[in-house]
Amino acid sequence: MPQRIITYSRNIFLPLTTVCHNRCGYCSFRTPVHEGCVLFPEYVEETLRRGAALGCTEALFTFGERPGLEPGFQEILAGTGFSDILDYCYDLCEKAISFGLLPHTNAGILTMEEMERFLQVNASMGLMLETTARLDAHLNSPGKDPEVRIEMIENAGKLRIPFTTGLLLGIGEDMGDREESLMTIRDLARRYGHIQEVIIQNFCPKEGTPMAGYSPVDPEEICLTIRMARDILPDDVAIQIPPNLADASSLILCGVDDLGGVSPLTIDYVNPEHPWPEIRELEHLIGDARLMERLCIYPRYIEKGWYSPRLAPLIRRLDQIVEERNNGNTEG
Ligand code: SF4
Repeated sequence: MPQRIITYSRNIFLPLTTVCHNRCGYCSFRTPVHEGCVLFPEYVEETLRRGAALGCTEALFTFGERPGLEPGFQEILAGTGFSDILDYCYDLCEKAISFGLLPHTNAGILTMEEMERFLQVNASMGLMLETTARLDAHLNSPGKDPEVRIEMIENAGKLRIPFTTGLLLGIGEDMGDREESLMTIRDLARRYGHIQEVIIQNFCPKEGTPMAGYSPVDPEEICLTIRMARDILPDDVAIQIPPNLADASSLILCGVDDLGGVSPLTIDYVNPEHPWPEIRELEHLIGDARLMERLCIYPRYIEKGWYSPRLAPLIRRLDQIVEERNNGNTEG
């Protein structure tokens, strides 16, 4: 039997703002508008510079959805020289490219036009479906309406954007809901061919949130969901787990293909109490499988040319670097 391959992306995580128009019952990332709720350009540029020096290939921009709808946010954002968070993010994507990192943006719900614009400066994009079920956890989160999320994932397919989505486990859904969510993603993947990976992420209850009293998802249930995902999803869609939130060493055998973005520099700002393992520790987590680095755009989309001409030279260069690192020719 050929040796199994488990992939990961070497990234930096840039949460441009913690302000968000949604109010999910499990979230400890979101904050009210306050001084310091926006990452300023000096910090972002310094992080990009240091990330590039450490051999990172991906700049992950993830932040609260439509923060501009929250009173007082625009005044704080004005300190960056921008009046719209998406314009600011776009500018930083261009900076990331100039530093030699491929942007991957997850800014919550975006319109077709916004995604079309971001495609020019992003190698891939993402939006967690989370679940197709209507849950109490999302009662105050208009952006978590399953129909709104499915529509955006579908629009990404129409635009041929290599796309990451996933399920959030343990927020009130049941196994039937998970099956339905996976079948929805499968149908979109079959129709448009743009789903490169599906994250199976277990929700970790956080102190101070309305769902602090929820029980963490049982590891066996996570394994069952991974197996179900492998059965339902097309073979070329990778199944990803975050190695800082779940026991990767046991879940790998359930059908995991990928460990997502792992950073040698920045923390997981959404789950700061769960540090990522060191990149060299990943090898131990995956047992007999072979660890391979990848870009945030999967190889088949590079082959198909699913990226903007602006990104072509950088994608070619980083693809070569990653290949050399995987072949053990450079330390990186
Ligand atoms: S959309 Fe994301 S950042 Fe906003 S409240 Fe929900 S989990 Fe938190």
